[in-house]
Amino acid sequence: MGNILYLVIPCYNEEEVLSETALRLENKINDLIGEKKIDEKSRVIFVNDGSGDRTWDVIQALHQKNKLFGGINLSLNRGHQNALLAGLMTVKEYADMVISMDADLQDDINAIDEMIDKYVQGMDIVYGVRSSRQKDTFFKKATAEGFYKTMNMMGANTVFNHADYRLMSKRALLGLSQFGEVNLFLRGIVPMIGYPTDVVYYERGERFAGESKYPLGKMLSFAVEGITSFSTKPLRMITLLGFFIFIVSIGMLLYSLVRHFTGETIVGWTTLMVSVWAIGGLILLALGVVGEYIGKIYLESKGRPRYIIEQFLNDDN
Ligand code: UDP
Ligand code: MG
Repeated sequence: MGNILYLVIPCYNEEEVLSETALRLENKINDLIGEKKIDEKSRVIFVNDGSGDRTWDVIQALHQKNKLFGGINLSLNRGHQNALLAGLMTVKEYADMVISMDADLQDDINAIDEMIDKYVQGMDIVYGVRSSRQKDTFFKKATAEGFYKTMNMMGANTVFNHADYRLMSKRALLGLSQFGEVNLFLRGIVPMIGYPTDVVYYERGERFAGESKYPLGKMLSFAVEGITSFSTKPLRMITLLGFFIFIVSIGMLLYSLVRHFTGETIVGWTTLMVSVWAIGGLILLALGVVGEYIGKIYLESKGRPRYIIEQFLNDDN
């Protein structure tokens, strides 16, 4: 089992944090090399996810100065998950183990030591799990919690309070590369690879600089994406709802017949209005959910590439 470590860091408009992140990682990697925990060929690869600022310039400058740093430039902004995947798939042939983390230093880089220890003990996947979220806003905490709960309720097995800070062995990455879906939700897929798995706990800090690249809208679509990629439970729920309404409608039918034969048919305008609107609304909702899945099939059937790499800077010797 070799010990070449690659760090993969997706970056979207992160010019403010990159130099600091690079500095801290450089120290960390040098320490690890000094302790002989990792090979000298270990690298830090920043994936520029089509940033609109000087992120790529910063990455290029880092690469020029120190061969420890490499970069992947995506041709367009494809989102965090795709950027991460681009990085993982590109480095898997050079690395023995890969750790993915965010650019903003919210993930405690000291957890890397423990992740590597677990790898050496034979773990293929080591999840970084936030032991507390003191630094996150109440809103972020509540939405994140709701997200994990819903995901698990819907049958997608995600690790609670684990974002994309994790170590994966080469073998686990090869496993990952066999999943062919276009809409890839890594946090749901990785547990499906199998292989020996462990977790490492860490305190999640504040964003070092800049602001979150995950505003509410993106977070919501991330959640819908996650659920519909992993579970057909919403479809089952519609079926059950339809069944329930069918039972209610039999009751309504009997009730209407009774009213008809007792000659009281003019009353009931309210009931009529309410049921027309309620059922109309439910039908539209159900159509929407079905539509989500059809949309998924449509996108998957085209099999478009998830990202296109414009440039890859890596000094692999
Ligand atoms: N990111 C990315 N592409 C995007 C949005 C975000 O590569 O379209 C990166 C971003 O640069 C950061 C990571 O994904 O390294 C997580 O984003 P952020 O820290 O803004 O999310 P939060 O921690 O607020 O959930
Ligand atoms: Mg962050």
